[in-house]
Amino acid sequence: MSVTNEINFSRGDKLVVASHNPGKIREIQALLDPFGLHVLSTGEMGAPEPEETGDTFEANARLKARASAEFTGLPALADDSGFCVAALKGAPGVYSARWAGPDKNFDEAMCRLNEEMGSAKDRTAWFVCCLSVAWPSGKVLTFRGEVWGDAVWPPRGNRGFGYDPMFQPTGHSITFAEMEPQKKHGISHRAQAFRLFVDACLRR
Ligand code: IMP
Repeated sequence: MSVTNEINFSRGDKLVVASHNPGKIREIQALLDPFGLHVLSTGEMGAPEPEETGDTFEANARLKARASAEFTGLPALADDSGFCVAALKGAPGVYSARWAGPDKNFDEAMCRLNEEMGSAKDRTAWFVCCLSVAWPSGKVLTFRGEVWGDAVWPPRGNRGFGYDPMFQPTGHSITFAEMEPQKKHGISHRAQAFRLFVDACLRR
C-alpha cells in the first residue's frame, strides 16, 4: 500500500523552485531529475523575489519558499547558502552574496575576508545550505547541510564559484575550486541538505 501525505512527493507532482537564477534552477532540476517531478520556477511563473530580510539561513530559505508557495498555490523549494568564518564570528554568513557587491566581485569579497581575518590563528570556515520546502497550506520543512574546513590564503583554483578558491574542506589538500565538480557536489553543503530533503520527501 502506498502512503500519501503532504510531505511526500510522487512522480509527476509539481514543485516550484523559488529562484530567478537559471544556473541554480538547472542545478536543482538535475538533482531532482531521478524523481520524475514536474519542476517549475518562480522566474517563469512571474513571482516576485522577496527581500532576504532574515538574519539566519533558515529564516531566508523559509521566507522565500513560503512566498513562492503562496503566490503559485503549489509546493515550493527555496535555498539560502553562504560562507562562514569562525574568526569573524560566522561572517560573511547570510551576507555572503552582498559582500561581493552589485558586480558580484568575489575576488574583492575574498580579499576583504582575508584582511578582516588578519593574522587570526583559527582558520576554521564552513559553508551552510538551508533548503526549505513550503506547501500552500502553510506547512514548511527545512533541511540544513554544512561542510567544514579552513579558509586558505592565497585563493587557489578556478573551478566552482563564489568563495570556493578560499575553502579547503577538512581531510583534503585542495580547495573546492581545485576539485572536480563531481567531487565537490558529493560532499558539499548543498548536496547534504538535498540528501536530507530526498530522504524525507521523495521516493525513487
Ligand atoms: P544565495 O544565492 O542567497 O544562497 O547566496 C549564496 C552566496 O553564498 C553565493 O553568492 C556565494 O557567495 C556563497 N556560496 C554559497 N554556496 C557556495 C559554494 O558552494 N561555493 C562558493 N560560494 C558559495
